[in-house]
Amino acid sequence: MGLARVPGSGLPAYLVDQPAFYDRPGNPYAGPDGHDWPDNHRRFGLFGWIAAELARGADPGWSPDILHVHDWHAGLTPAYLAARSPLAGHVPTVFTVHNLAYQGLFPPAVFPELGLPPGFFSIDGVEFNGLVSFIKAGLFYADRLTTVSPTYAREIQTADFGCGLEGLLRTRADALTGILNGVDPHVWDPRHDPVLPRSYGPEDVASGKPLAKAALQRRLGLDDRPDAPLFGVVSRLTSQKGLDLLLACLPEIVADGSRLAILGSGDSDLEHGFSVAAAAHNGEVAVEIGYDEALSHLIIAGADIVLVPSRFEPCGLTQLYALRYGTLPLVRRVGGLADTVVAATAVSLADGSADGFAFDDDSPPALIAAARRASSLFRERAIWLRMIRRAMSRDFSWTAAAHRYLAVYRELQPGLVPA
Ligand code: ADP
Repeated sequence: MGLARVPGSGLPAYLVDQPAFYDRPGNPYAGPDGHDWPDNHRRFGLFGWIAAELARGADPGWSPDILHVHDWHAGLTPAYLAARSPLAGHVPTVFTVHNLAYQGLFPPAVFPELGLPPGFFSIDGVEFNGLVSFIKAGLFYADRLTTVSPTYAREIQTADFGCGLEGLLRTRADALTGILNGVDPHVWDPRHDPVLPRSYGPEDVASGKPLAKAALQRRLGLDDRPDAPLFGVVSRLTSQKGLDLLLACLPEIVADGSRLAILGSGDSDLEHGFSVAAAAHNGEVAVEIGYDEALSHLIIAGADIVLVPSRFEPCGLTQLYALRYGTLPLVRRVGGLADTVVAATAVSLADGSADGFAFDDDSPPALIAAARRASSLFRERAIWLRMIRRAMSRDFSWTAAAHRYLAVYRELQPGLVPA
């Protein structure tokens, strides 16, 4: 374990240096063959154990006021703390769920390797349907729970979104808070984005944004059609994101005169389906399979509408980026999407609060109806421009989120002041 500093902030950072566990090819979870490492319980268990030891006072030179851990990867930390008495005072814990669908489940045979007391493998502990669940450990043992939007905080207490953990989450409802994520205003800023042919703000969006659209069409080999609504997608291609719905609707959306620009990677069925659709609609539908930061910025800026038809969405970031760039989100009304997009209705159009489109049913007709509503408003230029300016005026900075996290910390440590 070594001490470092978080760049730009001077905050201390402890790095867990265990090359036998972490110095491996592939991503943090899986090897180059895409399979999870078979010892992930030990790799992420060690990480959580060290965090807990620091919170217990293992470093005489420093100890935290709050231990705030995220997702299943750090889920065992509050369990380790509960299992061992503190060397210094008790450090309260916060556990944040970014996506309840990823749970860190392992066979029961791994439990003895984790160094937890035998009694912890029980329904009042880390056991979940006979398996070891790292996320349940966090949900059960942490003092406070948060997730990344108010609507998702409610949804995960229901059977439709709770992934089997809704009962536990209901018993912990008083400890659970939904706090929306923020956007990095320096990385996602149409006034200072090197990817754009010309920067723009709300005052010159009407002349700046069409240049981004033209550049995007050229980059992807789409026909140059400023008058046709261009729908963009930047996403993992998984069933969570509801893009099978889009694939089912795609011929109708194109027949309506709209265009599509899609960037993503993930499930091979979806990658194949979108690639076939692009070949069948040359010049009208463009698909890039892969991960490409620069192209993602160009799509967010150059599209007229960004589609996020997710089945569930803890917060979602693409719709927040889109709003900043004056690209109107079309979303399914779930989770953070419901909390961040003001869908166009007679009322919201009249009072000027509309900045996007939403649908409820998990079905192609519902998506098509919303896409048609967006395309018809796209042709009403004055209304559209008003919606664009409204979208660009929304504030999703981290400052608001930081204050809400601080309020949670202060409930646990009333005397806490920011450093
Ligand atoms: P999730 O975390 O469930 O994938 P979010 O919307 O919260 O969904 O965040 C996804 C982030 O990853 C966004 O910033 C999105 O722009 C980015 N992203 C997803 N796929 C790609 C891709 N193929 N290329 C570039 N960026 C991508």
